[in-house]
Amino acid sequence: MSLKLYNTLTRKIEEFTPLQQGKVGMYSCGPTVYSHPHIGNFRSFLVADLLKRFLEFKGLKVTHIMNITDVGHLVDDADEGADKLEEAAKKQKKDPLEIAKFYTESFLEASKLLNIKSPDKYPKATEHIKEMIDMIKILVDKGYAYVVGNNVYYDVTKFANYGQLSGNTLDDLNAGARIEVNQEKKNPQDFALWKHDTKHLQQWDSPWGKGFPGWHIECSAMSSKYLGAEFDIHTGGEDNIFPHHECEIAQSEAASGKKFVHYWLHTHFLLFDGEKMSKSKGNLYTIQELLDKGFKKNAIRYSLISSHYRQNYNFTFDGLKAAEQAIDKIQQCVLLLTDLRGNKKEGKIREQLQKLASNCLTEFENALSDDLNISKALAVCFDFIREVNKASDMNSAEAAVMLDTINKIDSVLGVLETIDKEVPDNIKELAEKRKTAKLGKYWKIADDVRAEIMALGWTIEDTPDGGCRFKRREET
Ligand code: AMP
Ligand code: ZN
Repeated sequence: MSLKLYNTLTRKIEEFTPLQQGKVGMYSCGPTVYSHPHIGNFRSFLVADLLKRFLEFKGLKVTHIMNITDVGHLVDDADEGADKLEEAAKKQKKDPLEIAKFYTESFLEASKLLNIKSPDKYPKATEHIKEMIDMIKILVDKGYAYVVGNNVYYDVTKFANYGQLSGNTLDDLNAGARIEVNQEKKNPQDFALWKHDTKHLQQWDSPWGKGFPGWHIECSAMSSKYLGAEFDIHTGGEDNIFPHHECEIAQSEAASGKKFVHYWLHTHFLLFDGEKMSKSKGNLYTIQELLDKGFKKNAIRYSLISSHYRQNYNFTFDGLKAAEQAIDKIQQCVLLLTDLRGNKKEGKIREQLQKLASNCLTEFENALSDDLNISKALAVCFDFIREVNKASDMNSAEAAVMLDTINKIDSVLGVLETIDKEVPDNIKELAEKRKTAKLGKYWKIADDVRAEIMALGWTIEDTPDGGCRFKRREET
């Protein structure tokens, strides 16, 4: 089944056709690195990861770029207020770059814990000032932008499609606009591309004097550098639709004369107690805080991907506990299959089991092809597990096919990364040694061997049938 996605731009579910057959260019708005990212941010990043993994599952080659915003994102998302990084730097009496470095590391660390596949590049805004200046120059030359003193603004009235993504019209926006404090702008909705502010801690030379870039221009400049002026998919949280993505379209399409992005995908908010989780409200949890409460990293990942991206998800601890139980069910099934695969029972694969596996993969793919219907995809996965658990008389070849099916599903879900998929030979040999020691009642030797297995990063559990199961030990 072909992939269908809801495109915010057209407000329709559309069939996904990449610009280049077999390849996908995808850009995701990344974190503003002025504090630890919260699980709401990660819901958006995980949806991008889920989509990317699913595109790869379907055999497409994805080039994925996620920016790091380390300058220019102002407190109110528009043109007024303090730069979020500057504010944090001043509060902590540190250099903005130090702040950025610290929280970028925090973000990367948490992304790794959540098993988010690294994008091909994490470009930083402060390392692409030249590209931004070049794009602003083009916009000025083409008449889309104007210079007032040392500031440059984008004239929204020059771009006929302004408002297309968000559904806003300039009339409506102007009617609801606050009293404009900035007299330099020709129109209230014009936005800054380059700002002059002598108090700003980060300053660069430009044709318009010293200053710093606006937030929106960074994503236009960096996406075109790494993916070209026209590419397939752009993701972000729903609050990015306006003004950020609306402005990105205006800048990029005016500069290149091409259609910027073909499919816009926006993740709805993660809520806590019914309210958007956000840094400004302070109603947030970081990954580390949840780990400190004893929750497992793969349960956090599971809970954040397990509801549809176009619905709000109300975060609860009960939801996290349910995620742990769900993962446990999959893991137990993997352990059972690992045992069965290693057994001596040989034979051909029974047709009904072959069918069970192939139907599962087809249905799983169909569910996610339907605008990432994750609930359906998970239901398919658990139906499969229920059937597998019933067939405990499987031979080794059958168990291998079932295991392969779960591993293919997990290449998209990404929740089983820490579990045994292939037990190395040296661990198996040590297990044999331990078994012999136990049979001979050499308990001390058996305990020492178990300790050796543990030291190599594995745990071993005895099963009621006299066999054993292996698990890779959690890294955290
Ligand atoms: P920021 O670090 O503020 O630039 O946000 C990074 C990403 O997280 C953006 O794509 C936001 O739209 C997204 N985001 C922020 N809060 C939430 C939330 N509560 N739920 C889902 N996504 C969010
Ligand atoms: Zn962005």
